[in-house]
Amino acid sequence: MSLPPPKLLLVNDDDFLQHDTGLDHPESPARLQAVYQRQALGFPDHRLPADAISTLPPRPAARRELTAIHTEEYLLRLEEAALAERGYLDHPDNRLSYDTYRVALLAAGAGLAAIDRLEAANATAAGALIRPPGHHAERSTPLGFCFLNNAAVAARYWQQRHDRKKIMIIDWDAHHGNGIQAAFEDDPEVFYLSIHEHPTWSFPGTGWSEERGQGAGRGTTLNLPLPPGSGDDLVLRLLDEVIDPALQSFAPEALIIAAGFDGHHHDDMSGLSYSSELYRRLGRHAAASAARHCPGRLLFLLEGGYQPDLLVRCLGNFLEGLLAVPPDHPGR
Ligand SMILES: [Zn+2]
Repeated sequence: MSLPPPKLLLVNDDDFLQHDTGLDHPESPARLQAVYQRQALGFPDHRLPADAISTLPPRPAARRELTAIHTEEYLLRLEEAALAERGYLDHPDNRLSYDTYRVALLAAGAGLAAIDRLEAANATAAGALIRPPGHHAERSTPLGFCFLNNAAVAARYWQQRHDRKKIMIIDWDAHHGNGIQAAFEDDPEVFYLSIHEHPTWSFPGTGWSEERGQGAGRGTTLNLPLPPGSGDDLVLRLLDEVIDPALQSFAPEALIIAAGFDGHHHDDMSGLSYSSELYRRLGRHAAASAARHCPGRLLFLLEGGYQPDLLVRCLGNFLEGLLAVPPDHPGR
């Protein structure tokens, strides 16, 4: 019997456009507006198989799902800053508006809604097309446009709600996901692997290769910092030589991709020099890795990517890559 064709669930919602960062902020609603417009047209510039993609609405993350990662005090502080329309929280980078708290709960819950559907075997993979992004957000601190750590919340939810113990998070946003690393650096059951521009040159200044986790979590943090100007070749070599062996030895039960598209050569938020074709390879790699280690349990979450048209092109390539690999899906 032949395997069923891959099916991809995408979480989207116009509410994500309601997090208003003002006219001059790179993390703008225009990013997702561009994505949703192309999605509504069936991504006409890409060769995505008909009927392969269905959409799913998000749900707000519940308090207890958020407090697995963030403090109660921080959630109150964030809510209050938004409702009082304070303009930003802690640093002008973290611009917020009246709707930001409500939208951030939806962004954190989007992955959770997707995980439930994956666990019901309704799809091969799922992605959350969300904002605000999450990977810089720490336990009680917003950072770098991020308020709630969407990927960290999703990893804990997958463990606690569905009893998938070993979660691997691969983060190829151009920047180091300090918040994800901090959430799990002493936890041997969540492996955080990040490939990013070297902290000497790049925000937020963490993600040195010496950072390998601590205590019981020593060895399940892996940072692969790249010098400015690094391109596809280096990333592809690391996939083969470092990332595949890490996947093989950790053997994750679920795979989360922190998918930021700001490493592209023409995205001026980093000095990396990726081509848009690299994202197709990353899509194929994610699908193949999930098929090998955790079939049907692949979730990606949108992080950075700040030029709307370029974001759409790179995301479309990534989706093509994801869908091109027939899933190895025994027994589901
Ligand atoms: Zn980034």
